[in-house]
Amino acid sequence: MAEKPILLGIDLGTTNTCVAYVRNKIAKVVPSDRGALILPSVVAMSEKGDLLVGNVAKDQMVVNPRNTIYGAKRLIGRKYHSKVVQDIKHYFSYEIVEGVDGECAVMLAGKVYSLPQISAFVLQHCKRVAEATLGHPIQEAVISVPAYYNDNQRTAVKEAGSLAGFKVRRIVNEPTAAALAYGLNRGFDHKVLVYDLGGGTFDVSVLQIHGNVMEVLATGGDTFLGGVDFDNRIIDHVLEEFRNETKIDLTQSPVAMQRIKNAAEAAKIDLSLLSNVVIELPYVADRRGKPVDLRIPLSRERLNTLVMDLVDRSFALVDQVMGEKNLSKAEIAEVLLVGGQTRMPLVQGKTHQHFGKPPRKGVHPDESVALGAALLAESMQEIDSVTLVDALSMPIGFAMPGGRFRKVIEKNTQIPAQRSFRLPQAKEGKMQDLDVFQGDSDKIVDNEYLGTLKFPPEASGQRVSFNLDEECLLHITVEGLSPDARPQEVMLATQDTPEALKAAWQEESERRQKAAESTPAERPKGILASIRKVFGSE
Ligand code: ADP
Ligand code: MG
Repeated sequence: MAEKPILLGIDLGTTNTCVAYVRNKIAKVVPSDRGALILPSVVAMSEKGDLLVGNVAKDQMVVNPRNTIYGAKRLIGRKYHSKVVQDIKHYFSYEIVEGVDGECAVMLAGKVYSLPQISAFVLQHCKRVAEATLGHPIQEAVISVPAYYNDNQRTAVKEAGSLAGFKVRRIVNEPTAAALAYGLNRGFDHKVLVYDLGGGTFDVSVLQIHGNVMEVLATGGDTFLGGVDFDNRIIDHVLEEFRNETKIDLTQSPVAMQRIKNAAEAAKIDLSLLSNVVIELPYVADRRGKPVDLRIPLSRERLNTLVMDLVDRSFALVDQVMGEKNLSKAEIAEVLLVGGQTRMPLVQGKTHQHFGKPPRKGVHPDESVALGAALLAESMQEIDSVTLVDALSMPIGFAMPGGRFRKVIEKNTQIPAQRSFRLPQAKEGKMQDLDVFQGDSDKIVDNEYLGTLKFPPEASGQRVSFNLDEECLLHITVEGLSPDARPQEVMLATQDTPEALKAAWQEESERRQKAAESTPAERPKGILASIRKVFGSE
């Protein structure tokens, strides 16, 4: 009998990537020469022009910062001119540029790479290691993404998978994967809360497990709260202590800063096991030609006070997410801790305190998402084995006059989902545009631009449906375009510069504001006029 093909489950993390597979119904992390296959999500080009992935890439980051790409997950599927990218691009040591279609791209050794290409290097590496260690060619994979990822980001991750040579069987939300790893085939019927504190992001989701049906009830978090913030608190503390002791300011020395950064993270990790460490960096500076060493003791207690507000913030978010669905703590049967930073005793202690019970034992913080993705991949080969019911993490809708956001599908709507509305009557023979956005704000300028729908004249007054498929990918159909009256799928067209579009909306909304305060003669035209045409009136 031919052996069953091996499918991989891949947790493509902001900081680390983990790869798992299933054999004889048991999910395991792919072993590699350095232990389990968990590798830094880092890609670099060496001086000699060699492509480096994982640990080797991370190790040379200090000496080759411009050609070392990390944190790609923050940029993938985002527009270069989007607010997020413009806000964060200065924090990266490599160059972020505008690629095709206004997408974010990066410079690596003088060449422009798309983010899916960068992530594909990581995935390809995983594929190669997995094939070598398992002794089989591997074609298919399930890849996990954060629950809050929008349509563009999901599509981009799928593209990365294909570029790496995988048939991507499915994109799965990370908390759902973690819940699967915990609850598949266990016959549970209860609610769990997944608290995922990784390197750069915090995600919280509540799921209802009913046998092998995993249903996301609510989801939320903070995309800028994670392990690096903990490291930064230690870095600030170390810099201050050193300055007090020596009057030397190390912030001006990039090499010293990088060494402190590495030492801070290492100290933080050690303090998850030990109650005291000493941060030691010989020859971190020199004074009048003499080396100055850094030696700063740090206790777990002190670390806890340095980061307490970060942990408190995460639990405020937990309460917020539960509050949105009126969920009480008593209803949560288990709390699953996911993400490397949850190894910190303070996080575990606070979880216990907050919920009145300890977090669930036996959930592996680094591996459970990959294990869950692998279990899903495996179960997809069987019929009716698992049902995943996801919830939409951010509303989807379109732009209205004044830059307002009209939601079509609300947050936390169960997916697959379909919502429809009627397109207004357009003037005879005119095309209509509808700009589609996703986000929590009532103003479209703060939300993510997904694309523009261009409707032919005959769509006027017809029913438009937004359909989210099981992978949370958006499909849009409109009735009345074909003679047999079957709904036709329409594609989102990407404008050249979505930000120019947003800027125009913004400008228009400001002008409107002004106009409302001034004479009718100064009332704006332009975009407003064309929108009025689409929606009938203001
Ligand atoms: P991501 O989901 O972003 O890829 P991970 O789940 O791999 O991230 O978490 C990485 C973070 O976990 C890093 O900030 C790392 O310092 C932190 N971390 C790893 N091990 C420990 C530990 N034992 N104690 C505290 N923090 C840890
Ligand atoms: Mg993670």
